[in-house]
Amino acid sequence: MRLGIVGGGQLARMLALAAASLGVRCRVLEPAADACAAVAAEHIRAPYDDAAGLRRLADDADCVSFEFENVPVASLDYLVDHAPVFPSPKALATARDRLIEKTLFRTLGIPTAEFRAVDSRADLDAAVAALGLPAVLKTRTLGYDGKGQAVLRDAADLAAAWAKLGGVPLILEAFVPFAREVSVIAVRGRDGESAFYPLTENTHREGILHLSFSCANDEMQAPAQDYANRLLDALDYVGVLALELFEADGKLLANEFAPRVHNSGHWTIEGAETSQFENHVRAVLGLPLGRTNALGCSAMVNFIGRLPPREAVLRLPAVHLHDYAKQPRAGRKVGHATLRVTDAASLHAALPGLLALAESDVL
Ligand code: AMP
Repeated sequence: MRLGIVGGGQLARMLALAAASLGVRCRVLEPAADACAAVAAEHIRAPYDDAAGLRRLADDADCVSFEFENVPVASLDYLVDHAPVFPSPKALATARDRLIEKTLFRTLGIPTAEFRAVDSRADLDAAVAALGLPAVLKTRTLGYDGKGQAVLRDAADLAAAWAKLGGVPLILEAFVPFAREVSVIAVRGRDGESAFYPLTENTHREGILHLSFSCANDEMQAPAQDYANRLLDALDYVGVLALELFEADGKLLANEFAPRVHNSGHWTIEGAETSQFENHVRAVLGLPLGRTNALGCSAMVNFIGRLPPREAVLRLPAVHLHDYAKQPRAGRKVGHATLRVTDAASLHAALPGLLALAESDVL
């Protein structure tokens, strides 16, 4: 079987590695010369909207998928005419616009922070009057890793936030004083069968995921899974989906979903019976899904900027290194490591050693 992937970064790399062991050959479309997915996939070096590149990607493909949601619309239009595309363009369109996304959450009865569309400075004043402060102003599209947003703490912050973000469609959200951030990774096959991974607790730094932690039996599993399931069904979804939520006052509020494999699910490579990457490949190709149960407790730490010394990571027991083979650069995700042990107590005992390595080498 053959799978095409738009994008050739680390998500495509881990998809291609999982696909290879299932006997599935991958092609990736990626303009960068040093596409890190090329280690396990045929690299079509062309822009994401290049007609010849798209033709080669779809040629003979049993399915085309993607590793990021901002695939050019014209490219998607071409691909759907030439190969099955999963997740669907509708799922992508929903996820890439925060207003459409949050409106769908509300329609499905999934709680969110209060929000208002903001298209002018007058809208911003009206939205702040309605929601109060603090609040978070975000671009509706193209935001990632905390980019394209500003926290408004008092009225004096409005002018600077408008100067920074104004001119494109925006959304204002009430600030959620969350106790923690969690995500649930879900997968749905072409036949509608779905499965859910144990909940993941996530800590961000400067908008970038730093640490994910997953032990089975989180008390918020049931509501998180229920909300993800509503989304899967409403979108007639195929593939892996990550739903990110805030926990505040003992309740969950949905923040956003990613229509793809997600950084907060990297722990599933060693920490679950079937990884999110393998299950995405299985789902989009119409193969039976693998079991999603956890194998003990896991913590995943991102390496941002550059990797710690390889030997230092490999010396830690129960730690699994993933080096994406990317050039070091400030703020860039260049690798991760997952610590997998039998129980939460062992995890807490071993985690500081791994965290210390992640600290030592941030550029
Ligand atoms: P996002 O791009 O929506 O995932 O936001 C990036 C990060 O900003 C989140 O992981 C939160 O830590 C924080 N954040 C986003 N929206 C809110 C909000 N409405 N209230 C509080 N914190 C937020």
